[in-house]
Amino acid sequence: MWYYSTRDRSIRADFSFAALTGLAPDGGLFIPETIPPYPPAVCSSLGSMDFQDIALETIKPYVHPVISGAALEALVQSAFTFPAPLVRVGDRLALELFHGPTAAFKDFGARFMARSFAYLRRNENRPLHILTATSGDTGGAVADGFFGVPGIEVTILYPKGRVSPLQERQIAGLGGNISALAVEGSFDDCQALVKAAFTHRELQKRRTLSSANSINISRLIPQAVYYAAAAGRALSGRVDPGGEATPRSPAAGPGANEGPSPSGKAATFCVPSGNFGNLTAGLYAMEMGAPIQGFIAATNRNRTVPDYLHTGNYHPRPSEATISNAMDVGAPSNFERMAAHWSYEALRRRVLGVSVTDEETRRAVAAVYQDAAYYLDPHGAVGWHGASRAEVEGRLQSGPLAILATAHPAKFAGVVEPITGPVPVPPALASVMDRSVAVKTIPAAITALCEAL
Ligand SMILES: *Cc1c(COP(=O)(O)O)cnc(C)c1O
Repeated sequence: MWYYSTRDRSIRADFSFAALTGLAPDGGLFIPETIPPYPPAVCSSLGSMDFQDIALETIKPYVHPVISGAALEALVQSAFTFPAPLVRVGDRLALELFHGPTAAFKDFGARFMARSFAYLRRNENRPLHILTATSGDTGGAVADGFFGVPGIEVTILYPKGRVSPLQERQIAGLGGNISALAVEGSFDDCQALVKAAFTHRELQKRRTLSSANSINISRLIPQAVYYAAAAGRALSGRVDPGGEATPRSPAAGPGANEGPSPSGKAATFCVPSGNFGNLTAGLYAMEMGAPIQGFIAATNRNRTVPDYLHTGNYHPRPSEATISNAMDVGAPSNFERMAAHWSYEALRRRVLGVSVTDEETRRAVAAVYQDAAYYLDPHGAVGWHGASRAEVEGRLQSGPLAILATAHPAKFAGVVEPITGPVPVPPALASVMDRSVAVKTIPAAITALCEAL
């Protein structure tokens, strides 16, 4: 598989170069030259295959021939050590993507990326320096994914005061090869700093730089896996019973977990979106042939993409702070990637955009807790409300509907608990709060970043 830049098709790279450099030399994003279809036999058995087998089938063509089948199998086995349950919540499904070590979906991408970097750099001596901007959850997942990986140093930039105490401990509480910088500014400022660093001559000389946020193709591809797995399972009616963090309604009774009856229709996913990496991965899975009929892209008040889908005009803007802070993105990086693959009309056929207010988000947390005794985090709640809006407006197709529950509710206890009361804390999160934070504050200026590095 070859990758090329969204801005210039003559800039071509293999998986190794695309992953390790992150951004293309012209400032564009790397995209695969084709989106490879699943073999028909895989497509028809997605509902009964193991997650790891689906991961192997999904990722294999994207990394061929740089990572061999056997090496990929080992990577997949060590990256995806936790489940992605599809559970019933009322008459919908929730795809729980928060069972990894940092309790958010970014663990899927970050863990695969960290392991593929270690593999790709297995014969190098010079350390690789990873620079990444986070609006909250990326940082924790990247820190955890790379912690202790030999030959790799990581610096994480986050907007000071705009991440939760728990996220801050996940980012700045590990130490070792992981450093943290709190930037006096927004996530967009952090992202702009990272972009500036990649074109900064002097810094380029001093360091071998790479990125790890959702612009990195090696983070994006593994995210296609859970869409394919969940679509297959939704259509064959294989729904999981909830775990302890996802109590069932006492009134639900036997049979409540059996899910929708098998149907020939394809699944719809509602994706709480910020930088639009997750949605792009979903579009890849759909294009590969997974039984998906479309997406609802639910944003908070940062409605750049819903507005684009509505009007055809793309106007990036400064981000606004909301209670779903991992999605506070006014200029989503992955838009460039989506626009390179799909025309406006093609995107409109696949994606319905909805923007949700904080007030609506809180109401969704309350309603789902009351009706189904299920805890949604604010990001999942944006998705839930976005799906409700589509339903009310009659724009939902029939067939199973799954909301992506992108973070564990305990990660956002400050928002969720005033509405629902105490949220059960998974053990992985409980231990994080004991960490002490080591962080340096810098102004949002490239000179300050250079100095800090
Ligand atoms: C990052 C994140 C999102 C947004 O994902 P994108 O790929 O940036 O659109 C949604 N929810 C949570 C919890 C996140 O951490």
